[in-house]
Amino acid sequence: MADCLFCGIVEGTIPSETVDSDERTVAFMDINPATPGHALVVPRTHSADLMEIATEDLAATTAAARRLARKMKSALDADGINVLNACGAAAWQTVFHFHLHVIPRFEDDPLKLPWIPEEGDREQIAAVAAKLRSDG
Ligand code: AMP
Ligand code: ZN
Repeated sequence: MADCLFCGIVEGTIPSETVDSDERTVAFMDINPATPGHALVVPRTHSADLMEIATEDLAATTAAARRLARKMKSALDADGINVLNACGAAAWQTVFHFHLHVIPRFEDDPLKLPWIPEEGDREQIAAVAAKLRSDG
């Protein structure tokens, strides 16, 4: 897709530190790493986000993210991995070509959960669950 940054990286017209690729996916280093090793996995075929991506591309991108996560464990000695997707501007998405962040985690790294876990109101949880179970 014209003017898409990650399509440019897939095509090679925009430089990147590519670390893995297959028929459907490309993985490259994030230029603003949350931890050393933070990478992104994208489908070669453009789709804006989780709502749009074809099921086969989602499966391939997820499998590639796991391959990279395993590599982060063996090559970077990561203690853990976060796989993260932002879908929509309200959810912090800034590049509108689907991508999974694969972030190696280390026992002493400075990352924090972006929410404070607090016990929720049971009635409100049940009410939202009912909405999610409904056909609408
Ligand atoms: P998101 O905010 O979830 O849409 O993630 C977009 C990510 O793309 C951010 O973590 C950026 O640091 C990263 N990013 C932006 N431009 C580039 C680029 N040219 N090469 C690699 N990563 C990039
Ligand atoms: Zn694109």
